[in-house]
Amino acid sequence: MYLHEFQAKGLLRNYGVPVPDGGVASTASDALRVAKELKGDAWVIKAQVHAGGRGKAGGVKVVKAVSEAYDEATQMLGMKIVTKQTGPEGKIVHRILIEKAMEIKQEIYLSFLIDRDSEQYMIIASAEGGVEIEEVAKNNPAAVIKAYVNPVIGMGHFLGRKIAKKIGLDSSLLNQFADVANKLYQCFVDHDAMMLEINPMVVSGEGEIICLDAKMTIDDNALFRHPKIEEMKDYGELEPQEVRASIFDLSYVSMDGNIGCMVNGAGLAMATMDIIKFNGGEPANFLDVGGGADVNKVREAFKIILTDPKVNVIFVNIFGGIVRCDLIAQGVLTAAEEVPSDKHIVVRLDGTNVKEGRKILHDGAAKSGLNIVTGDTMADAAEKAVKLASGDKVGKKKASVTAEQEGE
Ligand code: GDP
Ligand code: MN
Repeated sequence: MYLHEFQAKGLLRNYGVPVPDGGVASTASDALRVAKELKGDAWVIKAQVHAGGRGKAGGVKVVKAVSEAYDEATQMLGMKIVTKQTGPEGKIVHRILIEKAMEIKQEIYLSFLIDRDSEQYMIIASAEGGVEIEEVAKNNPAAVIKAYVNPVIGMGHFLGRKIAKKIGLDSSLLNQFADVANKLYQCFVDHDAMMLEINPMVVSGEGEIICLDAKMTIDDNALFRHPKIEEMKDYGELEPQEVRASIFDLSYVSMDGNIGCMVNGAGLAMATMDIIKFNGGEPANFLDVGGGADVNKVREAFKIILTDPKVNVIFVNIFGGIVRCDLIAQGVLTAAEEVPSDKHIVVRLDGTNVKEGRKILHDGAAKSGLNIVTGDTMADAAEKAVKLASGDKVGKKKASVTAEQEGE
């Protein structure tokens, strides 16, 4: 789960991490009130969207008068931000963060991640932080350093100092940096975060280290331990399909292709995406209905894919182990009746009650005129789905991979 900058900064503040004073607004008049309350002589207006690169896309503005804060807020609220991370469709700004502006002497980059290879936390740091950090990493990789933290031992002051020295911070900053870095580390660990990125961490005009930006993602699988964080979830930032999936507890990830996949089991779901790619197609999503899905869940899962505008073919790939094929077929038909569509549906069903399932689909399709094509094997069905997605008709060609080769 991705946190907004203001939410992440709220968590950091609780750990004593220095962040600028500020407040959130969703209207320009609210923004004006926040700016007035903050006093000072310069403010930053920051778009609160789930994406980095806002600075370059007009989502971060420094203003020198409260009237300008009001004008800038009016401009920014409702505007569409397009950055490398949002994709071409961009993100609409619904909320802005108004902060007291800082005088910046130096911009530092500092992030915390989980490194699967070393089974440790990883810290990445550079004294050349800011909006060009990707360029620094590319053109001057020596300026970006990595350090590892054994989760059992923890970070410690010494590692903070070591990192600060390694990136070449002024010696007057070593202790301050180590202190802030350790607070960040503790906040990262305590919240089961997967990523905490501070870019930039700045040295202010007064020589204070302050975290000017914060990007933080929390491990979804740990949210049950953090109910307060789960309440912060901004459904407005999710695609409608993702919202429905989260309501019905379906494991769903949206992607860019046009073949919608409904599969049971994460392993089979990944294999399904692989085989689509192998045939030259592009999956529109990852969707695992789970092992013990009931008709309701299957119906909702199918509807999520049916209502996805980028999908033109739906590939149902179900192996009935615990879940029965007749129940899957029933769910598919019910959903298709509720949301009429002329999308092609390619079904590969196998396992428990497969005969009953196929009969239900066959009879249902004949009655309702649904475009259902069946595949004998996963390979056969995948090939048909990719062909249909590229606009080809599906011929009678026999599948080249047998069920044994699929490893079932
Ligand atoms: P991002 O582009 O989404 O990462 O947004 P950031 O919060 O990192 O802001 C982008 C850039 O705006 C920063 O790297 C700073 O250079 C600048 N910026 C942000 N806040 C302030 C501020 O208080 N004062 C000044 N002078 N610049 C700021
Ligand atoms: Mn940033």
